[in-house]
Amino acid sequence: MPAARLIFLGPPGSGKGTQAQRLASRLGLVQLSSGDVLRKERQEGSAIGRQAASYMDAGTLVPDDVITGVMLSGIDRLQAGVGFILDGFPRTVAQAEALEAGLRQRQLKITTVLDFRLADEEIINRIIGRRVCKACAATYNVSFLPPKVAGKCDKCGGELFQRKDDSREVISTRLETYRDQTAPLIDFYSRRGQFHSVDAALGADAVEAAVLRVVEVASRC
Ligand code: AMP
Repeated sequence: MPAARLIFLGPPGSGKGTQAQRLASRLGLVQLSSGDVLRKERQEGSAIGRQAASYMDAGTLVPDDVITGVMLSGIDRLQAGVGFILDGFPRTVAQAEALEAGLRQRQLKITTVLDFRLADEEIINRIIGRRVCKACAATYNVSFLPPKVAGKCDKCGGELFQRKDDSREVISTRLETYRDQTAPLIDFYSRRGQFHSVDAALGADAVEAAVLRVVEVASRC
């Protein structure tokens, strides 16, 4: 299959991160998660991390130019010809336009955009139960995707924690942010073709199968 360059779009908690991890390891792609990159910058205490902290804790978006610069640098660090999944980026129309221009300069093109659809009620349930590995960022859910040993990552044995912004208080702001600033991207990308929706309410394995089908069919077009 030629290198896939994918965008995973969807509200917080829709499972796009989990699916990006699964698809990346299955197809040998690199997952570039904007949230993970920003959390790492914060852990390292970098200038970008310090700048992003207050936005992240409040559930609002870090400035477009900051995240766009970070993500394009991530793409530049990839080996030539390697496919990637942009997970959580772009999140505004301005970011999508900057990404398009940045990719054009690099003579690259997004091959498929997948939009993960999930009702608000289910989003809240999923976010409340989400746990993340401190070491490798693998995600679990205490209700429907629990680790084999409570509090420990199946993949690397790292400690699992609950993200500060996965609290009830911050979730409503994150959903509002998604609706106001990110949902317009559905229209933006559906006009450009190669846009597909996935029912994210299915179980993780069923969603994975649906994602794989879309990506395989798209690669033949
Ligand atoms: P996530 O892990 O994708 O839910 O992202 C966590 C937080 O990081 C978000 O609530 C934002 O504050 C910030 N963030 C992640 N991706 C972006 C983006 N593309 N644009 C702006 N802020 C972002």
